[in-house]
Amino acid sequence: MWNATVLSLFPEMFPGTLAFSIAGKALVNNLWSLNTINIRDFSNDKNGKVDDVPFGGGHGMVLKPEVLDRALKSVVDHNGPRIYLSPRGRKFDQSFAKDLSKEKGVVFICGRYEGVDERFLTHNDIQEVSVGDYVLSGGEIGAQLIMDATIRLLPNVIGNSKGLVEESFEGDLLEYPLYTQPRVWNGIEVPEVLLSGDHKKIEIWKIKMSEKITKLKRPDLWSKYIKS
Ligand code: SAM
Repeated sequence: MWNATVLSLFPEMFPGTLAFSIAGKALVNNLWSLNTINIRDFSNDKNGKVDDVPFGGGHGMVLKPEVLDRALKSVVDHNGPRIYLSPRGRKFDQSFAKDLSKEKGVVFICGRYEGVDERFLTHNDIQEVSVGDYVLSGGEIGAQLIMDATIRLLPNVIGNSKGLVEESFEGDLLEYPLYTQPRVWNGIEVPEVLLSGDHKKIEIWKIKMSEKITKLKRPDLWSKYIKS
């Protein structure tokens, strides 16, 4: 079973959003498992101190390497990658989610304050992963984001796996427009082809619309698509 182990100063933030809907049901059905570790439990300080001021000056506090190291070493029997959520890391995307879904699991290390002591990362060969070009207050939301995108790709989590193949980013295209009942809403009609029952025509329309939307909204993906 795919396992997520999360090292955080706020383990009570988990499962958080992952307790609901697809990921929540999958958790209840034992399609993935969650293990949280409170970094503070590994402080040797009588007041539970886990951070200190940065050498060389600068703002804020830095999480201490020996505390993080003890927390990480407490994770036993784990074969998957160890990821530190970090704005300077490799940017997370759908193909990364696919790779992670094929692993036995992932250990997530959530930073807080100014971040973590660099030596903890290099000593433990930890991968840095960013969820976007902005600065969050901590790694917990990023870890949940990565977990959500990954868990929905695990076997048996989504009933109809054909749905996954048609989603955005599959084959470098964004999804075509979606419509449901009623046929006419606010005077706007559902495209006629979708009511035609002609599956071949519908497939062609979906691809054409995906191409049009990708070209318009994501020229970067469009040029990748054209090249491939
Ligand atoms: N001083 C850091 C910097 O400038 O790169 C930012 C520290 S941030 C306030 C605290 C923590 O939030 C980080 O250690 C990291 O774990 C997490 N974090 C912030 N932005 C993130 C992002 N874009 N992706 C992943 N994690 C992020």
